[in-house]
Amino acid sequence: MIVLARRLGALAVTAAAALALAGAPAQASPAPIDVRLIGFNDFHGNLEPPAGSGGRVVLSDGTTVMAGGAAYMATHVKQLRTKNTLLFSAGDNVGASPLASALFHDEPTIDFMNDIGVNASAIGNHELDKGYQELLRKQFGGCASDGCQFEKTFSGAKWPYLAANMTFDNGLPAALPFTVDFSGGVPVGVIGVPLHDLPSVTSADAIKGLKFGDEVQAINSSADLLDRLGVKTIVVLLHQGDNTEGGGPNDCKTAPGPALAIAKAASPKVDVIFSGHSHQQYNCTVTDPAGNPRPLIQGASFGRLLSVVDLKIDPRTKDAIRSKTVAHNEVVTRDVTPDPTVQALVSKAVSEAAPIANKAVGTITSDVVAAEQASGESPLGDVIGDAQLDSTKSVGAQVALMNPGGIRADLNFKSSTAGVPDGTVTYANAFAVQPFANILQTETLTGAQLKAVLEQQWQPQPDGSVQQKMLQISSSLHYTWSASAPIGSRISAITVDGQPVTPDGSYKVTANNFLTGGGDGFTVLKSGTGIVGGAIDLDALTAYLTAHQNLAPPALDRITRTS
Ligand SMILES: [Zn+2]
Repeated sequence: MIVLARRLGALAVTAAAALALAGAPAQASPAPIDVRLIGFNDFHGNLEPPAGSGGRVVLSDGTTVMAGGAAYMATHVKQLRTKNTLLFSAGDNVGASPLASALFHDEPTIDFMNDIGVNASAIGNHELDKGYQELLRKQFGGCASDGCQFEKTFSGAKWPYLAANMTFDNGLPAALPFTVDFSGGVPVGVIGVPLHDLPSVTSADAIKGLKFGDEVQAINSSADLLDRLGVKTIVVLLHQGDNTEGGGPNDCKTAPGPALAIAKAASPKVDVIFSGHSHQQYNCTVTDPAGNPRPLIQGASFGRLLSVVDLKIDPRTKDAIRSKTVAHNEVVTRDVTPDPTVQALVSKAVSEAAPIANKAVGTITSDVVAAEQASGESPLGDVIGDAQLDSTKSVGAQVALMNPGGIRADLNFKSSTAGVPDGTVTYANAFAVQPFANILQTETLTGAQLKAVLEQQWQPQPDGSVQQKMLQISSSLHYTWSASAPIGSRISAITVDGQPVTPDGSYKVTANNFLTGGGDGFTVLKSGTGIVGGAIDLDALTAYLTAHQNLAPPALDRITRTS
């Protein structure tokens, strides 16, 4: 009996201990707090569902689905919202945008982002297309110089624009580096970072007085500061991205690039990295310097994908439990009911833009395309070169040069607008070709400098490859290039108005302010002298089309290529 009693006693003690373990919630880890982050990137004012390849998402199996459109996106955001949700943009909300947004200084796009409840956005390169003062207006409101054209007033973004690595020349911050949002009682630090290479993709005068520092340094100093303030869940909105070798929205077929390098190196305090700029789709998991996983995700562009990151946050530490983070890209399909408020906003922008958009500015006899033939010359490039020369002949220009990346669409003979006859070039068609509103500038170059500019069309890359960027040129310029000659001595037989170019001759050359600022690596154009300003590139193009009705694609005889 004694033995049995002892045994029973031992059992009782064991059972009591077991009960104590199971029934002691105060000592077990409390339930994590669910916080959902939704991100998008590179919306570029695509209020209407984008057409063509810009409105398609390629799935993992290679099939495609049409996606995007602000009113569909708004519905998807609403459906994805949970009790604790924050909505972010990784930049390039505006700029290089369709006419319905661009005609109104992209104010409808800011209104749309206010409507869907964006909490914060990174500053992308295109936020600075029209300069720092215009970015401040987008943030704080007020009318542009031509008045408020969309609504009677413009109140600006209700969310902060962030750029932790953007400073004035004197080193002082030029934007908020980060913000803190509360979700489910958890403070979430949000750091915005544009690419430090931003000056290489933006007009020099648009970013005059601004500097862009190292992304990782900026992220880390902001993360340290947030950490000291007690903010442990930290998100980065990075306006930089990698390229992919195919793959669906939730694959990770990226080629190692700048975003991966930043995501690997940035402080372990950062829990999530939304990326952008390269307009690619990927959903990657990257190991941080402390060995923990975190998502690096991008959602294509134009509002086609929403990047959804579900965090489990430890209520004691207020930090994300990394092993429990789940991320995916959600396709903004067009099979949902469009959000009525956003649809009304989009319809208003489209209908108010229509009279200007559908105005005929010229006629063409067949397609005038931007695709380059083997010599590097393209029919549309020729037309633009001629238009820019025409526009600046009054200041003595002899030659015009155009960067190929600034030619964004073809001029198609077949009309895409109901009621507009085939062969008509509308303002919207011309705008689609040249949406950047760059200013033409004319400067004097020596013959040696002109040759050097043409030699800069081939640029050696760090990986040993050579990047070719063929300038499009006016009919006054002719030259020959040899593909087999060494870089730096490929150009010969340059003539201007039929006369051979001499090294110490002087030539008045027109280019847009992106190029004269040394854009696309054409640094020689920075050293021209006697620079004078001209028209906006789009105005030069529409004036040329109006003056040359029934325009045929020019014969491609300006650039000759030898082997
Ligand atoms: Zn960008």
